Amino acid sequence: MADVIYFDNNATTRVAPPVYEAMAPYLKELYGNPSSIHGFGTRVGRALDRARKQVAGLLGADDEVEVMFTSCGSEGDNTAIRGMLEGSPDKRHFITTSVEHPAVHGLGQHLEKKGYRVTWLGVDDEGRLDLDELRDSLTDDTALVSIMYANNETGVVFPVQEAGEIVKARGIPFHVDAVQVPGKIALDVKTGPIDLLTISAHKFHGPKGVGALYVRRGIALRPFIIGGHQERNRRAGTENVAGIVGMGEAAELTARDIPAEREQLTTLRDQLERALLSACPGARVNGGRAERLPNTLNIAFEYLEGESILVLLDEFGICASTGSACTAGLVEPSHVLRAMKVPPRWLQGAVRFSLSRYNTREEVAFAADKIPGIIGRLRGLSALGRVGAKEGQPDHAS
Ligand code: PLP
Repeated sequence: MADVIYFDNNATTRVAPPVYEAMAPYLKELYGNPSSIHGFGTRVGRALDRARKQVAGLLGADDEVEVMFTSCGSEGDNTAIRGMLEGSPDKRHFITTSVEHPAVHGLGQHLEKKGYRVTWLGVDDEGRLDLDELRDSLTDDTALVSIMYANNETGVVFPVQEAGEIVKARGIPFHVDAVQVPGKIALDVKTGPIDLLTISAHKFHGPKGVGALYVRRGIALRPFIIGGHQERNRRAGTENVAGIVGMGEAAELTARDIPAEREQLTTLRDQLERALLSACPGARVNGGRAERLPNTLNIAFEYLEGESILVLLDEFGICASTGSACTAGLVEPSHVLRAMKVPPRWLQGAVRFSLSRYNTREEVAFAADKIPGIIGRLRGLSALGRVGAKEGQPDHAS
């Protein structure tokens, strides 16, 4: 077994070896500028064309012209939202959900400061979206609806096809943040209601620093980065050629392997989930009754702090994460779990385990063996008053 047991794949993933192999020539001998007229450059340009086709294949897009490359998922989200809002300046209403990734959540808050009216759609206690609330919030002033496909913290999947049909029936543009989806759910933008969709290569065994935005043909998207003519005038700047080539390769591998990968991820995730629920009294799965990504387990341990659990997991080389943010020395509970109204005694104690095709049964068994001891150790400390406190008032000072 490796020194590190990596269960943090919703944060980032290992680069697949064939992806690295495909990229290497573009970091060494094939360094031409893809916009150059000479053959040395146009050869590199052809590599971008191929990657665009590979990414279109992953998305189920008809036409690779609908794929533009970006530098990451955050850029894709910002480009889609800002570019669409700029294109209809007379409309001042934006709809999103209360559980988005900061790339959309933070932008929504920024838009509010700029005078936009933002509707933050709520979720139920399993993290599920209410489509009636979406329907009721659409107005003639709505410029764009942006909804995530699957939640990065809980893995809860939103019904984006149904949501999109509701939005499109009112003629409103529809953006989907699908950054957590490739490799876990098959994408098919061709027939559905999605106008714009964001993905990011490092979430599916591609390199960091490259993403893609699907823009349906006919959607007038204002460029976010203005300057050169690259990406059909939609994003200026010399392309990250090696990164894009790597993303193309990762997209092809992901599209090819998805049925087997889904099954493997579900089996391993469920094995871990069952083991922890039975060995750790007071544990609950956040979003456990909703449709979820096959690789994600968000499990909360009553009266404990997720950060303390992570520190002890790290002693065994197990990498996981929490959705909490550390601000001014205080651990802020995740906005996603707060939106789900997770009861206070579980709010601070959530840990996210997110698996990938590189995880094994042995790793899951090792973690399932060690975690109950970690929880027991922290409960011992908790009894001494070091961790946890009265119900509803976790002790931040501990
Ligand atoms: N959207 C979601 C749902 C994500 O999970 C992430 C990253 O975790 C992003 C957007 C941002 O992607 P990137 O890290 O490539 O900017």
